[in-house]
Amino acid sequence: MSQFHSVTFADIEMAAKHLAGIAYRTPVMTSTTVNQRTNSQVFFKCENFQRTGSFKFRGAYNALLQLSADQKQKGVITFSSGNHAQAIALAGSLLNIPTTIVMPEDAPSVKQSATRGYGAEVILYDRSETNREELTQTLAQDRGLTMIPPYDHPHIVAGQGTAAKELVEEVGGLDLLLVCCGGGGLLSGSAIAAKALSPNCKVIGVEPERADDATRSFHTKTFHTVNNPDTIADGARTPSLGKITFPLVLNYVDDMVTVSEEAIVRTMFFLWERLKIVVEPTGVLAAAALLEGVINEPDAKIGVIISGGNVDLSQVAQLFSSS
Ligand SMILES: *Cc1c(COP(=O)(O)O)cnc(C)c1O
Repeated sequence: MSQFHSVTFADIEMAAKHLAGIAYRTPVMTSTTVNQRTNSQVFFKCENFQRTGSFKFRGAYNALLQLSADQKQKGVITFSSGNHAQAIALAGSLLNIPTTIVMPEDAPSVKQSATRGYGAEVILYDRSETNREELTQTLAQDRGLTMIPPYDHPHIVAGQGTAAKELVEEVGGLDLLLVCCGGGGLLSGSAIAAKALSPNCKVIGVEPERADDATRSFHTKTFHTVNNPDTIADGARTPSLGKITFPLVLNYVDDMVTVSEEAIVRTMFFLWERLKIVVEPTGVLAAAALLEGVINEPDAKIGVIISGGNVDLSQVAQLFSSS
């Protein structure tokens, strides 16, 4: 089996069966203002309304469900201060699988308590002294836990692809699908689903300018990384695409573009004000590419994935008042 076929549409269909009745079928929103501004028909798939506030629940549940009985009994571990942590914690509690999340001790306390609230054991570490991968490895070995990565895993990619599958099934074939990109799990899964259900649909990935590792990797077809990029889109601060997602992105995605920090903030403001939805900075990357004119595709039917809505409200207030 070629590495390009590490995840297929059949895997996404299987994931959709696993998630039926458990993940929400999130709403698709439209806006006359957006359609007029872009001269297109735009459909926003709103994963900010997914359980735990982002699409990450789809992949997490699909991955945990398929562990062996022994792995389920011993439990899983992951490192994340963000949406993957909450997704794993909730999926574990629904499936009765113990979860351990390794987080930096300076992670926002709302995120720590949300993750504990979903039933996970949270282990804090000091960023300046501890390498989180090593700590996670050691804990996994000592406790017999299975490590669940945030994107570079076939069951995670397949789960993430179910959002785009729902979108195309609901609104019909698309000319263009825009998807944000961190480690490329959501982008690969979405591209596989879109190409299977709507073969003429172009799929474009969107990153922050300041974290353009996947865009460079895509254009040069060689592996590029970034180190701790300074972007407000925290879900896209991942250092690079993964071993599984890089070949999938090369094979299924048509183009990659970037957006500025200012574009991200303006788009957040616009979506809060016009669509009346709570969206986080990473969640609006795809919408920013369209609304800021980085992508110009008039007379087209365009899908845009809004990936999440977990944001510290005081941080948003600050962003909006200074913009
Ligand atoms: C994780 C995350 C992303 C990036 O997803 P990848 O699969 O790593 O590319 C984008 N938006 C939100 C809200 C996320 O939580």
